[in-house]
Amino acid sequence: MFWFILFACTSQPHTLPAKPDIVVVVIDTTRADHLGVYGHVRPTSPFMDELARKGTWFPRAYSSSGWTLPSMASLLSGLYPHQHLVGRLAFRGSEFGKLDSGVVTLAEALKGEGYGTGAVVNNTFMAPAFSLNQGFDLYSYNGATNTEHRTAMETIQTGLDWLDNSAGPGFLFLHFMEPHLNYKASKPYLGTFSDGNPAASDIELEALVGKSHRKTPPSVAVQEYVRQRYDEEILVVDDAVAHLVGQLKARGRWKNTVLVITSDHGEEFWDHGGFEHGHTLMGELTRVPLILAGAVPNLGRVDAVVEHVDLVAGLLAVAGLGHAELPGTDLWSIADGTAQAHDNTALSENILYGPPKVSIVDAHARLEFSFESNSGSLWAVDADGTERRRVSPAERNATGKRLSEAIKAKRGSMLPIEGVGGVTISDREMFNQLQSLGYIDGPDLSPSPTTAAPQAASSPTAAAPTP
Ligand SMILES: [Zn+2]
Repeated sequence: MFWFILFACTSQPHTLPAKPDIVVVVIDTTRADHLGVYGHVRPTSPFMDELARKGTWFPRAYSSSGWTLPSMASLLSGLYPHQHLVGRLAFRGSEFGKLDSGVVTLAEALKGEGYGTGAVVNNTFMAPAFSLNQGFDLYSYNGATNTEHRTAMETIQTGLDWLDNSAGPGFLFLHFMEPHLNYKASKPYLGTFSDGNPAASDIELEALVGKSHRKTPPSVAVQEYVRQRYDEEILVVDDAVAHLVGQLKARGRWKNTVLVITSDHGEEFWDHGGFEHGHTLMGELTRVPLILAGAVPNLGRVDAVVEHVDLVAGLLAVAGLGHAELPGTDLWSIADGTAQAHDNTALSENILYGPPKVSIVDAHARLEFSFESNSGSLWAVDADGTERRRVSPAERNATGKRLSEAIKAKRGSMLPIEGVGGVTISDREMFNQLQSLGYIDGPDLSPSPTTAAPQAASSPTAAAPTP
């Protein structure tokens, strides 16, 4: 099991206030290129765009996985999935990893420095059964389905209520579900981008949860309608972020707050023939927004390739802590050009559906490698960050060698994650929520007399998914 030790650190970014409030906003399922500042065609994010321009933002930021559980575990631990082992275990049905109590989480580290720690989370993969609540004084968890989830505004209110009553600096982790399927924004946002699209009557968005659309693209017009509906949910969140910042200003806390905006993974809109998330590690699923605002230096756009483990190292530095045993590089040192050992690559691992994969990207190309077939595919990264073209034959050998060596350097091997057992989905309510989200298949659980908290178990459940 992976352990790490925190060292007192003298390299706290000098331009930041000492021990500021830290507010991390994770917007589920938000791909970077659907925000305005990242070049999107529709005005989905005017407020967040302005925050980015006044603060610091990263056009080449990547999550550590393409679905919620392993990605969030990396965001909260600073470890890669092959280190924290919280994901779907390779070839083991519906058995999932659970965070080991020996891992010192970001929340535990900040708590040790006097921070109050609060989390308000809404995805069923954030259930306490997975132990991502380690170190939080408040862990307000609401499981979600595609049609019901706690709203971003309600999430903010719960977080602010806690912050108001928390002593010392606060670490507040907020998680919004809006851009996740089924893309039915609240009014008046619904229709902002999709009204007038003649394809609107052609499809019930709920039907997209079905597997058929994952591999059989609908017409181009319907695809555009789906993206418009998705964008309306980002607009909902943009107004919620504006509300959050307004409330922090009203409380006199904004100038002493480091606000981070990111997402756990993106969403595929048939970029490579598929839909939704969890099935690949390509850029549309792993390239995420990363915006630093509030009491941060105005560095604007920083083009380095960064990953969530770098963000965690950076947040530890904000609190005056080092990260010597963690894989990430302090994000602030990358941003101001003083990082000494940053390799400008991002590693992503673990798949929810299908054979296990690992992937790495640098400024020029991505390698996605399948452990089952023992082969990889190489994609060029274009100037806008998209990955639509194969690497040219002339560059294939050198690029493949460079990127496979980078994977080995970060992982130590090219073996799939096996890890240890942790959580099986034995709770009926949790199973139904995950099934509603389209994450697991298989027979329903036998009738359960209660909807008690999910139970950790060490053996595979009978409710095996069919990826
Ligand atoms: Zn997610």
